[in-house]
Amino acid sequence: MNEGSQDSNPLEDNKAKSDALQIYREKRDFSITSEPSGERGVFGGGIFVVQEHNSRRLHYDLRLEVDGVLKSWAVPKGPSTDPRDKRLAIQTEDHPVEYASFEGTIPQGQYGAGTVTIWDTGPYRNMTQKDGQEISMGEALHNGHAAFWLEGKKLRGGYALTRTKRGWILVKMRDEMANSID
Ligand code: MN
Repeated sequence: MNEGSQDSNPLEDNKAKSDALQIYREKRDFSITSEPSGERGVFGGGIFVVQEHNSRRLHYDLRLEVDGVLKSWAVPKGPSTDPRDKRLAIQTEDHPVEYASFEGTIPQGQYGAGTVTIWDTGPYRNMTQKDGQEISMGEALHNGHAAFWLEGKKLRGGYALTRTKRGWILVKMRDEMANSID
C-alpha cells in the first residue's frame, strides 16, 4: 500500500489521464489480474494505429488515442506519405484503447466481418495550435482540425486531419519526413 503514490511522471500531459485511472488501479492487483493497468502515455501523447481491414471493401482504419478512447476514421485509400494527396477519412465510432493491438477475423454476420491486421502503429504527439497556443486533441477534433506527429514504422512525421462537409481529410504535412519532392 503506497500512500500518496509518488508518481514522478515527468509528462504533465499524462497527469490527468493517470488521475482518471486512480480508482480503477486501487481496486486491482496487477500482479494477479491480467487486466491492463493503463500505464501508458510514456511518449507524452498517445498511441496511434492503422489497421488494414479487409471487409466487404478493403480500407484502412486510423485510430488515435484521445481522452482514453481511440478516435477512429475509415480511410478507404489509406494514409499517404505524399503531402499532395488528400485522403478521405470517414469518422467512425470510438473504440476502446485495447483495440489498438487487435488483429484477427471478425466472423461473418458480425459488424465489420473480415480480417483486421495492424498495418502500422506507434506513438503520436499532438501538434495542434490555435492562435499560437497548444490545444488538446479533444479540442482540436471538436474544432475540426488536428495536427499530430506519428512515430510509426511506415508513417512518420506530421499529419493533419481537417473536417469538411464531405468528411474528414487526412494529409501528410510538409516536413522532412514527407517523401514528396516538389
Ligand atoms: Mn473498418
